[in-house]
Amino acid sequence: MAQDCIFCGIVEGRVPGAIVWEDDEVIAFRDISPRAPTHVLVIPRRHIASVNDLEAKDAGLVGRLFLAAKVVAREEGIAESGYRLVMNAGPDGGQTVDHIHLHVLGGRSMTWPPG
Ligand code: 5GP
Ligand code: ZN
Repeated sequence: MAQDCIFCGIVEGRVPGAIVWEDDEVIAFRDISPRAPTHVLVIPRRHIASVNDLEAKDAGLVGRLFLAAKVVAREEGIAESGYRLVMNAGPDGGQTVDHIHLHVLGGRSMTWPPG
C-alpha cells in the first residue's frame, strides 16, 4: 500500500468512495468527476503504479479487472448500448492517479479518436 495514494486510501477505507462492486482482489467505484452518465473506475486492491510496472505474474489480475468491468457494465445497464474501457498511462496518456485503473465509461455515445 502506498500511503500517499488516493486509491489505496479508498481500498483501505481511509478515503470515502462510492464502491459499486468488489471482490478479494478488485474494487470498482464511481469516478469523483464523471465524464459520462456511467463512469466507474476498476482497480486492483494491490498498489501498481502504472501499466509500465505490470509483470507477467499480474496477467491474471489484469484479466480480473476486465471481468469486473464486464459485470459493472451489465449492472449499470450499458452492456448492450456499449461502453468504453480506458487505461491511461503516463503524462501523454493522461494518467493523473498513479494506481492503475480501468475506466468504464458509458451511457452516451463516445467519439473517436479520443482527445
Ligand atoms: P486518470 O486521469 O489517471 O486516467 O484517471 C483518474 C481518475 O480518478 C479521474 O477520472 C478522476 O476524476 C478520478 N479521481 C481522482 N481523485 C479521485 C477520488 O478521490 N475519488 C474518486 N472516486 N475518483 C477520483
Ligand atoms: Zn495505490
